[in-house]
Amino acid sequence: MKITLLGTGSPLPSATCAGPSTLVQAGGHNLVVDTGRGVIMRLVGAMCPPPLVSAVLLTHLHSDHICDLNDLITTRWIASPAATPLPIYGPVGTQKMVDGLLAMLSQDEGYRMEHHDDLRAGAGMAVEVHEIHAGESFSLGDIQISVHATDHRPVSPTIGFRITHNGVVAALAGDTIPCDGLYDMCQNADFYVQTVVREDLVRTFAPLVPTGERFLDILDYHSTVQQAAQTASRCNVKSLVLTHFVPAIQPGQEPEWHALAAEHFSGEIVIGPDLTFVEKE
Ligand SMILES: [Zn+2]
Ligand SMILES: [Zn+2]
Repeated sequence: MKITLLGTGSPLPSATCAGPSTLVQAGGHNLVVDTGRGVIMRLVGAMCPPPLVSAVLLTHLHSDHICDLNDLITTRWIASPAATPLPIYGPVGTQKMVDGLLAMLSQDEGYRMEHHDDLRAGAGMAVEVHEIHAGESFSLGDIQISVHATDHRPVSPTIGFRITHNGVVAALAGDTIPCDGLYDMCQNADFYVQTVVREDLVRTFAPLVPTGERFLDILDYHSTVQQAAQTASRCNVKSLVLTHFVPAIQPGQEPEWHALAAEHFSGEIVIGPDLTFVEKE
């Protein structure tokens, strides 16, 4: 299993960090967990062009995690010789969101069908939405995926994915504070991928920006670096993979982030930049 941080950014625009998205490759499948800003550019950087994407898994419907799903849907369709419907697994609300995207894309779909005989002969820009709930499991080939409740309230429902292939386990958490569902999902995992914020920096920057009060609100519903490390320890994971950096990590700042996590977790700690990967067979 190979896990690549496609985008380590957040809603805050960054010139260097794409939006939240993680590629999980196992058993010949390429799963994209969340589809943030620039997902297509980073997929190409990870040598996984859009036609090779097997499925999309969404942790929740916040804009930073879904804003380039439309690009993935379109580009996968037009770049595939014979496109198959793109499976999209996500929480309740995913169907409504995807219906809206398809409506937005319908004119472009029409232009391309009119212009290209082979696209017209196919099934169009098809997707296959599966709304899934915590407690459910499903398989993609010989990959097993269980769905776990996370806590990102007031955003609800939000979910995380425990992905197992050949005995290797990855827990993909999305945005959440520590909670029982997260602990269940991470138990003894080889890899625990967690979106994080730096509480100290958020508190430092908040008074300096016009939207400072709103900026502080992000502390309510994300794991801090320290909380992610505490969850990793508590759940006996082998490797903690941090992403979704708020604020974006400046070049050379990685050791500082690493040190904050290392105070609470003695296993391997992996920090971006984009396209950083970990793997285990
Ligand atoms: Zn987010
Ligand atoms: Zn979120």
